[in-house]
Amino acid sequence: CGIIGYTGSENVKDVLLDALELLEYRGYDSAGIAVKDETSHVTNVYKCAGRVSDLRAICDSKKILSACGIGHTRWATHGGVTDQNAHPHQQGKVTLVHNGIIENYRELIADYDLQEILHSETDSEVAAALLNHYYKGDPKEAIKKTVSKLKGTFALVILFEDQPDVIYSIRNVSPIVATICKEGAMLASDLTALCRFTNEYFVVPEYHILELHKDHVVLTDLNDNVVEPEFLSVDWEL
Ligand code: GLU
Repeated sequence: CGIIGYTGSENVKDVLLDALELLEYRGYDSAGIAVKDETSHVTNVYKCAGRVSDLRAICDSKKILSACGIGHTRWATHGGVTDQNAHPHQQGKVTLVHNGIIENYRELIADYDLQEILHSETDSEVAAALLNHYYKGDPKEAIKKTVSKLKGTFALVILFEDQPDVIYSIRNVSPIVATICKEGAMLASDLTALCRFTNEYFVVPEYHILELHKDHVVLTDLNDNVVEPEFLSVDWEL
C-alpha cells in the first residue's frame, strides 16, 4: 500500500518511519522496514501487524545504524494480517517490499517449487524468491528475468544483500516516484512521502529499472539503455 526507500546521510530509521506516517492516510494493516547495517551491510527486517507507532516502538528498542533502507505499510490482499505476512519479505540475498497483486503467484510457487521455502502466505514473497533464484551477482539481470515471469500489478523495491547502500525498483501500474537531493536519494509510492526533502521529483516509467544511490540515480529500460529522469516540481503550498 505505502512504500518508501531512502539511501543517504540522514538517520535512515527516522526517515523511513516518518515517511510511513505521512502515508498513513492511505489506510493499512501492517508496517515494516528493512535496513542495511552500516558496518556489516547485513539487511535487518523489523515488521508487525498493527500501526506505524507499534513498529516505531519495536525499532526504538533496537540500536539501528544504517545509511540505506526500505519501508512498507501493507493493505493485505493475499494472506491474512499477521507479522509474517507484513513486508519486507526476505529470501536469500533479496529483501523487498511490494505494492499490488501478483496474479500468477500460485503457478509460480508450483513452477519453481517454492512452497517449502516461503515464510508467508503473500503473493509478494514469491517475487522475492524468484529474484533470489535468478540473482547471480547482477541485480538488473535478476530483475529482468523475474518481471518477465510476473503477471499482475506491482511496485517492487528491492535490496540485494551484497549491493551496499543501493536500492532497486521496478513497477507495472502501481506508482513509484523518486527524488535526489543533498541529503540523499528517496523513492515512494506517493509524493506526500517525499515532501520532507524536496519539491522536485520524477515518476518512474513502467518496466524501467531504477537504481538509487545516495548521490545519484540511474534509470534504464529493459534493454539497458540509460533514460534521463523527467523532473517535475510540486507546489506544496497549494
Ligand atoms: N499483495 C500484497 C500483500 O497482500 C501487497 C499488498 C499491498 O499493496 O499493500 O501483501
